[in-house]
Amino acid sequence: MIPFNKPYMTKKEILYIEDAIFRGKLSGDGYYSKKCSTFIEEIFNTKKALLTTSCSSALDMAAILLDLKEGDEVIMPSYTFVSTANAVVLRGAVPVFAEIEEDTLNIDPEDIKRKITNKTKAIFPVHYAGVSCDMDRIMNIARKNDLKVVEDAAQGVNSKYKQKYLGTIGDIGCYSFHETKNYVCGEGGAILINNDEELVRRAEIIREKGTDRAKFFRGEVDKYTWVDVGSSYIISDINAAMLWAQFERIEEINEKRKKIYKMYYKGLKKLEVVGKIKLPTIPDCCKSNYHIFYMLLNNEFERNHLMNEMKIHGVETIFHYIPLHISPMGERLGYKKGQLKVTEDLSGRLLRLPMYPGLTDAEINYIIEMIYKYI
Ligand SMILES: *Cc1c(COP(=O)(O)O)cnc(C)c1O
Repeated sequence: MIPFNKPYMTKKEILYIEDAIFRGKLSGDGYYSKKCSTFIEEIFNTKKALLTTSCSSALDMAAILLDLKEGDEVIMPSYTFVSTANAVVLRGAVPVFAEIEEDTLNIDPEDIKRKITNKTKAIFPVHYAGVSCDMDRIMNIARKNDLKVVEDAAQGVNSKYKQKYLGTIGDIGCYSFHETKNYVCGEGGAILINNDEELVRRAEIIREKGTDRAKFFRGEVDKYTWVDVGSSYIISDINAAMLWAQFERIEEINEKRKKIYKMYYKGLKKLEVVGKIKLPTIPDCCKSNYHIFYMLLNNEFERNHLMNEMKIHGVETIFHYIPLHISPMGERLGYKKGQLKVTEDLSGRLLRLPMYPGLTDAEINYIIEMIYKYI
């Protein structure tokens, strides 16, 4: 069986985890946490990066930082992972789902414009598959309407839009280091605060259970106490130690994924030419981290048929997402099937192929061969 995902290990992980344990500071903001957050700040260029327990908790923190409250609206794609919407719903605010574009499966700026009301507070664009949303247009819409932008860059770590890294363009960016993402540490994430000093100060407090403990550690106050809402959003240094091993090899991991992406693309091109499938697009202004390789079949039946045949022949492929607006929770929020036609159509036709650095050329060729055979 060729699995859909296998987390890649650089072999330094255990060494650094052991070192973190011997250093004796196992909780947050230890030696490796600092190395990782400095790396994000210096390489990706952001004002402040704070490691978190996950991208979900980074998104939750973002929603708290924006002071979202009951009745506020946040525009986001329906075609995303549940965490993007949960962060908003947990504050009592309303996720307003917008359409995606056919070529990138990213949020459609025209639909964002249509969905703005006087209750809209923010836009949460999601960079699907590691390919950037149309950030110039989204930032323009946000500035004109006085909205905040939180990038869900869970899949976009080390990808670029023009000269900027994803996650560093909006007011806030959120990363994931979950084992299914490009750079992994089990469960982990980061929140990036890109320009507002006041948000940096509050983010440190929210992440530390609502206390000013960060100030205490810096010697700025002589005891720490409860100063704001917050929760336990800080990552253990043991996880950060693992992440550091991955950051050290960030370009090598990227190159391996790129090679796989190119092999799939080249190998499957003929099927696109004859109209059997559609391959993914990376716009010229974007640098991808090759997080996902997907293809679009002509209809849901063909997608399900191929997925099933691939499984029988030892290849695990998957599809996602059930659009949030037609999920059971989405329906409880009042959404209905038929409201986002492009999203519903694309999610029924999408198939993701195995994508991880350990995939061999022979495995890739076998996968391509099976796709030809069963299409
Ligand atoms: C994976 C993912 C998340 C959640 O990341 P965790 O670190 O697992 O919490 C959020 N949004 C998107 C788009 C994702 O792909």
